[in-house]
Amino acid sequence: MPDLKYVTYCGLYCRLCGHMARMPKQARELRESMRKEGWEHYGEAVHPGFGEFWRILARLGETDETCPGCRGGCGFPGCEIRPCAQERGVEICPLCDDFPCEHIEGLARTYPTLISDGMRMREVGLDAWISEQEARRATGFAYADIRHPDSD
Ligand code: SF4
Ligand code: SF4
Repeated sequence: MPDLKYVTYCGLYCRLCGHMARMPKQARELRESMRKEGWEHYGEAVHPGFGEFWRILARLGETDETCPGCRGGCGFPGCEIRPCAQERGVEICPLCDDFPCEHIEGLARTYPTLISDGMRMREVGLDAWISEQEARRATGFAYADIRHPDSD
């Protein structure tokens, strides 16, 4: 079995989440830009609470390395998919006989490529699927580009 570190139970790919794909770079750039202007020294005097913001901005700049991913506990705490897969002994939902179940169909209203991506995983196998997701990432794509804005 390939390394599933970035493959979520439901069949998303963590490195296409903005938390890994975009936010760290944006946070690092903002922090560096502000640092050059001296905000780390006078920020608290101008904006009370700045120190906490500054520390959080530093943490956000590292989430591509530090985020534990879906398998490590990141993601919606009330997710019903993860415990379902764990209880059934299913490593990834697209490999479940019941895929796409009603839970997956519900999540696909937010992530419109979820089911087709899962079918693609079945078709090409996990190694090739992961390579395809990395190729997608290299184009600058993130789920935020297609995520339905009115969904959870
Ligand atoms: S927490 Fe649930 S919805 Fe979120 S990535 Fe993991 S399995 Fe998918
Ligand atoms: S029934 Fe299968 S596809 Fe649906 S959430 Fe549970 S493990 Fe995933």
